[in-house]
Amino acid sequence: MATIFTALQDVQARIDTACTAVGRNPAAVKLLAVSKTFPAADIQALYQFGQRAFGENYAQELANKCQILAEYNDIEWHFIGPLQSNKTRLVAENAAWVHTIERFKIAERLSAQRPTHLPPINICLQVNVSGETTKSGVAPEQVLALAEQVAKLPQLCLRGLMCIPESSHDSEILAQQFLVLVQLKAQLQARGYALDTLSMGMSNDLESAIAADSTLVRVGSAIFGQRHYSS
Ligand SMILES: *Cc1c(COP(=O)(O)O)cnc(C)c1O
Repeated sequence: MATIFTALQDVQARIDTACTAVGRNPAAVKLLAVSKTFPAADIQALYQFGQRAFGENYAQELANKCQILAEYNDIEWHFIGPLQSNKTRLVAENAAWVHTIERFKIAERLSAQRPTHLPPINICLQVNVSGETTKSGVAPEQVLALAEQVAKLPQLCLRGLMCIPESSHDSEILAQQFLVLVQLKAQLQARGYALDTLSMGMSNDLESAIAADSTLVRVGSAIFGQRHYSS
């Protein structure tokens, strides 16, 4: 378990360094530990070291881990995977956050299925910033319309935007794509939406994301190691 803790500390150090480099306060960037495919025991270990926010990609895996770790009731569960209609209930019952809303229908189901004793689900709209046809996310020009619809749902709280940029080591390309998200957030804020979250940055690009103003980085392999099956 020393290894996983060392990895967590290394990632936190990368976040601190990236913030310092651009004059940002490291406390303004939340670290989401992406635990998909890794056992509940790993989550438990990181919990002992103070980590509270965990990200999962599969609805059933999220539900299973929530059940196993039910006694750790201050874990903040984030759902960050593609979400199908037939899986929304599992997510509505277990996640505090959903980062991958790209269709109104899914948002509507989450709101309807959210147990009323729980607070509203925090929502990020996923935006396709690279324009790649294989990528999930709403097109940038459709974000405003989707935000307007989602913001009206009673059991959801629209918090921000999320993206997965093109897989690239070219920091110029990354910066351009992160900027799309930054500008969309500013446009929504100008229209009165109280957004505070830019979910961007993963193991390989968190420095570029932080330079671009990310408030939440989603880090899997840099903490847990290589995944043996992929998302
Ligand atoms: C798996 C995943 C991550 C973590 O990716 P790493 O490269 O392992 O850090 C982040 N965001 C999303 C949406 C993911 O599916």
